[in-house]
Amino acid sequence: MVSSSVLGFPRIGAKRELKKATEAYWSGKKSVEELLKVGKEIRETNWKLQKEAGVDIIPSNDFSFYDQVLDASLLFNVIPDRYTKYDLSEIDLYFAMARGLQRQATETSKKVDVTALEMVKWFDSNYHYVRPTFSKSTEFKLTGAKPVDQYLEAKALGIETRPVLIGPVSFLYLGKADKDSLDLEPISLLDKLLPVYVELLKKLAAVGVKSVQIDEPILVLDLPEKIHGAFQKAYKYFSEQKDIPEIVVASYFGTVVPNLAAIKGLPVAGFHVDLVRAPEQLNDVAAILSDKQVLSVGVVNGRNIWKNDFAKSTKIVEAAIAKLGADRVIVATSSSLLHTPVDLDNESKLTEEVKDSFSFAKQKLYEVTVIAKKVSGKDVAAAYEANAKSIAGRANSTKINNQAVQKRTAAITDKLATRAAPFTERLKEQIPVFKLPLFPTTTIGSFPQTKEIRVTRNKFQKGAISAQQYEDFINKQIEEAIKIQEDIGLDVLVEGEASRSDMVFFFAEQLDGYQFTENGWVQSYGSRYVRAPIIYGDVSRPKPMTLRETVYAQSLTTKPVKGMLTGPVTMLRWSFPRDDLDQKTQANQISLALRDEVSDLEAAGIKVIQVDEPALREGLPLRAGAERDDYYEWAAKAFRISTSSVANKTQIHSHFCYSDLDPNHIKALDADVVSIEFSKKDDANYIAEFKNYPNHIGLGLFDIHSPRIPSTEEFIEKIGKILESYPAEKFWVNPDCGLKTRGWPETIASLTHMVEAAKYYREKY
Ligand code: GLN
Ligand code: ZN
Repeated sequence: MVSSSVLGFPRIGAKRELKKATEAYWSGKKSVEELLKVGKEIRETNWKLQKEAGVDIIPSNDFSFYDQVLDASLLFNVIPDRYTKYDLSEIDLYFAMARGLQRQATETSKKVDVTALEMVKWFDSNYHYVRPTFSKSTEFKLTGAKPVDQYLEAKALGIETRPVLIGPVSFLYLGKADKDSLDLEPISLLDKLLPVYVELLKKLAAVGVKSVQIDEPILVLDLPEKIHGAFQKAYKYFSEQKDIPEIVVASYFGTVVPNLAAIKGLPVAGFHVDLVRAPEQLNDVAAILSDKQVLSVGVVNGRNIWKNDFAKSTKIVEAAIAKLGADRVIVATSSSLLHTPVDLDNESKLTEEVKDSFSFAKQKLYEVTVIAKKVSGKDVAAAYEANAKSIAGRANSTKINNQAVQKRTAAITDKLATRAAPFTERLKEQIPVFKLPLFPTTTIGSFPQTKEIRVTRNKFQKGAISAQQYEDFINKQIEEAIKIQEDIGLDVLVEGEASRSDMVFFFAEQLDGYQFTENGWVQSYGSRYVRAPIIYGDVSRPKPMTLRETVYAQSLTTKPVKGMLTGPVTMLRWSFPRDDLDQKTQANQISLALRDEVSDLEAAGIKVIQVDEPALREGLPLRAGAERDDYYEWAAKAFRISTSSVANKTQIHSHFCYSDLDPNHIKALDADVVSIEFSKKDDANYIAEFKNYPNHIGLGLFDIHSPRIPSTEEFIEKIGKILESYPAEKFWVNPDCGLKTRGWPETIASLTHMVEAAKYYREKY
């Protein structure tokens, strides 16, 4: 009998119970006991779901109140000193590391003021983990027993589980040195860390754990040889210990083949590999297994919402069985299901046809068990027949194929993706149109989304107010935004995005080819979840999307108003993409839809158009090589397809946030002006990297995540520093990103100071 296995289950709850409970705890509305209880209920529900579905290998310790990597930092005592000096309770210490903590002194407790640890993207997903932060004073030890406790919790329900741990090599490699220990290389701490892992493994074995899943996702990255050695060392060390559970080393999101040296000969019970993302690795991995090692084959996608194609998956599993024998193969999800919404059964608005194409976490449990039954020779004919019907149904769906879009996408030429003239010539035509001063000032697009805006939008969506009433309300917001910007003295204005709830959803809702869920939330970080739209079929634009608001805003002022669109790569990355069409073609379809919007804006008299691409960097394939080179090319081209229809005198802007950007990648977009999140970088090397960037740039001058108001002097100093290496002629003055999460008072004050600083330099230059 071939076993079925799940690498992890979403922990947010089908109705976002975890978000509600944690936020209530943070705001003092729930006690710690109440919070812990909700966590326990979610775990119980998840385990029972998996048990009922017949999953053989059910994970535990995949639950987390914030992030599983942070859990490991806390467990192994990787807690920088700045968090420990306040005598916080365990859960408050944990949340302080996750999100910072500011608290006034009380009679019984000290004043607390500490910022959060760094949070970064989890590989190429939209999940973020809290970076383990090591210092020379870090002393590894077990501070608790969460994996043991949660194993026992499941056991008390009669459910045997396999605890999941982040592996020691990935834990160190994904971490960083703290400010006080910058010359420390985390991997050098391996020798000290391993005994603490062993202590934990022994504890797990002592309570009856037979097998653990140790995640080493860095196996899909480009790793230095030294790290290969670290794998060998770590797992050899474990194998020399008595009384520890057997270990299955799990990788996901790519191929381990370039790192075979790291896992070849490892004395572990087996490996898990992601055969959804990298089916081609099967042969090479199978070839290095010893004759007892098992291979867990990930064939049910943990990163997407599409129904599994049983016929296709079965072939892959059967190929593994042919090589290794049925007793050495496990059928598994490709990764943790953390990256998928919880339960399709909670969707009531999708048509039956569309719904039949999807599979969320709960449904994927059944997929894994049915495939495992099939390859074990059990009769699952009915399930396979139904599946084949669904797969064929989707392939032939009229909602998917749009001949006109396909024709237009196939006809894309380089010329379509090239502006009429190079930047230097365009600039000559733009100067007399805009007559901008030196150090032109602008913002990134959104202004505060006040409660009033959210409430009114909600009313409109529920039908409580008419379209006309809503339009009048939005117009009023635009009028106020324009007036405020004129008063502050900004040079290039925006309409303020009051009508947009989310920069991707807003456009997706207006495009053909998208589908939407009501409850399809996926954790992005902590209590922030995203409900990504789904690209279901060929994408096209039935009618203008932003024209009305933008043109209305422009009618109120003589200053240029910047049209504001979300770029093709970001639209793709922040949606669930199709799995039946390559990413490049999907991006191209969206870029053509945006191109029409850009042309419409221009024709209506809009002279500056910004196309945001904050997700450009995260789409970069994890490894260097052909796939990455290819991405560089098609991503930039998709942007240029959307922006190259305009005349030379029309100014194209773009914007990027939270990522380490390669100036060359940005250069390939050929935007006239780009704005980049910068305020927290504050790094001379980073500025220098952009020194030779040929077009114009605004390096973000203040952090929009904080209500803090920088003074005019602070702006002057910041600009002065950048000017040491960056030329005044190319210098735009703007914040890091959109201001939608801020309040108006601090927004007005900060922008006023920013504009004053720009004026100061205009006098000097
Ligand atoms: N124009 C968007 C805004 O200002 C950009 C958001 C983003 O880059 N994340 O909100
Ligand atoms: Zn941004």
